Amino acid sequence: MSSSADPRREIPRTDQLLAHPQLRAAAADLGADAVRQLVHAAQQSARQGRLAPGAVTDAVLSAAGEAMANKASRPGGLTPVLNATGVVVHTNLGRAPLSAAATAALTTAAGYVDVELDLDTGTRSGRGTAARQALLHACPAAAAALVVNNGAAALLLATTALAAGREVVVSRGELIEIGAGFRLPDLIESTGARLREVGTANRTHPRDYAAAIGPDTGCLLKIHPSNFRVNGFTAEATIADLRPLATERGVPLIADLGSGLLRPDPLLPDEPDADTALTAGADLVIASGDKLLGGPQAGLLLGRADLIDRLAHHPLARAVRADKLALAALTATLTDGAGTPTWQALHADPEVLRRRTEALAKAVGAPVVPHDGRVGGGGAPGVPLAGWAVQLPPAAAPALRTAQPAVLPRVHHGRCLIDLRCIPAADDARLLAAVRSAVAAAGHPVAEAGLPVVAADSGSTAPAEA
Ligand SMILES: *Cc1c(COP(=O)(O)O)cnc(C)c1O
Repeated sequence: MSSSADPRREIPRTDQLLAHPQLRAAAADLGADAVRQLVHAAQQSARQGRLAPGAVTDAVLSAAGEAMANKASRPGGLTPVLNATGVVVHTNLGRAPLSAAATAALTTAAGYVDVELDLDTGTRSGRGTAARQALLHACPAAAAALVVNNGAAALLLATTALAAGREVVVSRGELIEIGAGFRLPDLIESTGARLREVGTANRTHPRDYAAAIGPDTGCLLKIHPSNFRVNGFTAEATIADLRPLATERGVPLIADLGSGLLRPDPLLPDEPDADTALTAGADLVIASGDKLLGGPQAGLLLGRADLIDRLAHHPLARAVRADKLALAALTATLTDGAGTPTWQALHADPEVLRRRTEALAKAVGAPVVPHDGRVGGGGAPGVPLAGWAVQLPPAAAPALRTAQPAVLPRVHHGRCLIDLRCIPAADDARLLAAVRSAVAAAGHPVAEAGLPVVAADSGSTAPAEA
């Protein structure tokens, strides 16, 4: 080729590049179209003079290598994140992280499994039997149980089966929106049931329910307000208050508890739990599997056998049924002796948290500050989880989110805080690597190492979660 020839003629051709063994391997992993795009992008750079023609092959190989590494670190298109927010049930991060036992159960359930088969007889069996048994074991006050897709689906099924075309009697103080614009009253009305609102935003009495019950009543519904508290001049008709009324008038009493504790947790004295609610007189309770229960996304229905049976045989039950992965992970969550990651984060030993936080702070030369974690997921809004955080310059936050591994800090009052409550100690070394690289990328000097703990952080509010 003469020296006067257009150097662009030396750009490797597409078919030549695609025949490269490394790019054929990349195409098998990333898909032929994706690799072709990388090839075209490099050729385009060379045509525009931004890349030497001789460097095109290497550029494509390195872009393909990077794309494969990226894909490997994002299985299923999701990037694992270290949750440094201190918010235990974080909706934006997929709520409850699964236990090792639940994760192993998912792998088993991924293949062919006996989800609807009795291996002894070779005949069809009930779906989700193991999950139901585990729920009844964990919640002795329930006579029967049903697992559906999520809490919203459980409420949808219950109100459809018990009150479609009729009235759901509910307190005005309990008609809540729980996040991302999801309003329970809208969901209930979408079933064709009519809301019969009783009481006022702050005060509702048993007599309000009594006055509203009539021939059109499908059910009474109590909804746990989850993510807010009404303080001051308030009155609530409790489940125990409503039980005699429900019996006298022959209407079912349903309690949507939201967060999904099956039994009381002394750490969260104000969180309702299914066993207590049923003992107090609810006919049916509804809860989520992936909030405080610490399991997979699921909707739990627990209570009277005749009502559960009615729901299970309603045509809508099929449309909201739980998949085999959720059933497997839920069963493992309920039967595994070791506490779930959610339970461990809630009950983290403050002294251990403090030591780990100080070690990280020292290693990156940043101060430790007191920091309250939160339950999140619409649970226990008023309950601070006292702990600590490493304070970094605010500019570190974007670099942390895109670090390897990705770290989500809490950004609050212009501070970037790393709370270790929701990060297993086994991840401390990976966390340190990510924080180091983010601090370096942010190009900000952090405070001197070994700074004493500064004044308490009052007024910290967790993001609204549900
Ligand atoms: C979270 C919540 C729901 C919805 O449950 P999902 O599992 O998110 O569908 C319903 N009711 C209450 C009171 C809740 O807190």
